[in-house]
Amino acid sequence: MNLTEYDISRPYHAVVARTERITPENTDEVIHITLNIDSATFNYLEGQSIGVLVPGPHSFGNTHHMRLYSIASSRQGEGQNMSELSICVRRCFYIDEVSGERHPGVASNYLCERKAGDEILIVGPYGRQFLAPRDPSCNMLMIGVGTGIAPFRAFLKHIYNERKDWQGKVRLFYGANSGMDSLYQNDKNDDLTLYYDEETFEAFQALSPRPHLDDPIDMASAVKAHAEEVWAMIQNEKTYVYVAGLARLEEQMDEVLSEIAGSEEVWEATKQELITQRRWSTLFYA
Ligand SMILES: Cc1cc2nc3c(=O)[nH]c(=O)nc-3n(C[C@H](O)[C@H](O)[C@H](O)COP(=O)(O)OP(=O)(O)OC[C@H]3O[C@@H](n4cnc5c(N)ncnc54)[C@H](O)[C@@H]3O)c2cc1C
Repeated sequence: MNLTEYDISRPYHAVVARTERITPENTDEVIHITLNIDSATFNYLEGQSIGVLVPGPHSFGNTHHMRLYSIASSRQGEGQNMSELSICVRRCFYIDEVSGERHPGVASNYLCERKAGDEILIVGPYGRQFLAPRDPSCNMLMIGVGTGIAPFRAFLKHIYNERKDWQGKVRLFYGANSGMDSLYQNDKNDDLTLYYDEETFEAFQALSPRPHLDDPIDMASAVKAHAEEVWAMIQNEKTYVYVAGLARLEEQMDEVLSEIAGSEEVWEATKQELITQRRWSTLFYA
């Protein structure tokens, strides 16, 4: 859906409760921001996103600049505080193709510069196409890179902290440039390592072979190393597959899953079946 099609007519006031950088200084800056939304009408589910409205003036005469951010908290709120939710934001820059100049991304820089006590306007929540199954005997296969981890953090918190009856297998393949860029699983913040002891949960890491040379994250090797289990899960009608993060991950997943399936045709047919059965959910961004 195009960003202009989102209903932003009922914004909520949110106050920044805390903000914490969750990557070390010499890596890409990613901030975990906790917002306090004091409204009984604002409810959300894991896998949904909020829109952040950056006040103008903006170039091209836009009255507002809205960008979406995945909610990283579970439905009972950040730290079980119903009025708080968190998002994680990577500070973006882009190069103007004409002038060659480097410009800061509007919303991500705005958010990364907020301090505790600042008020911001948010809209939403949006999206019901990336929700966890209700049946606790279902399996979840989560594959994500970068800030694509945010909805998976929310899923894991919901499954293991709030439901406690989950019996299905949960597998997380998470890609980052380096171990220190592994959000919520590094020295700065280790939220997800809390779940490593859960019997039904396993996490596998995919890294970039040479992060300093900008080599892409090798998700294919991580998935191939567990090909048998991944393929068996995909074919099990109780498995729901989630893929989140940068858009190029889609192509990488099609390639590696075609290889595991034995051919592109077999994978395409399997993927279509997953889509029809609503067992394939994606959340991609540029
Ligand atoms: C469903 C969804 C969930 C998301 N979740 C997250 C999340 O959890 N965390 C996260 O960090 N991000 C997330 N994103 C991405 C986020 O919405 C923003 O796209 C991102 O933060 C960049 O926005 P920005 O305003 O900082 O950059 P912008 O100012 O919008 O710039 C971003 C891009 O726009 C282009 N651009 C803008 N202006 C110009 C110009 N003048 N000339 C040339 N090119 C230009 C460039 O290609 C640039 O890379 C999500 C996106 C979606 C769709």
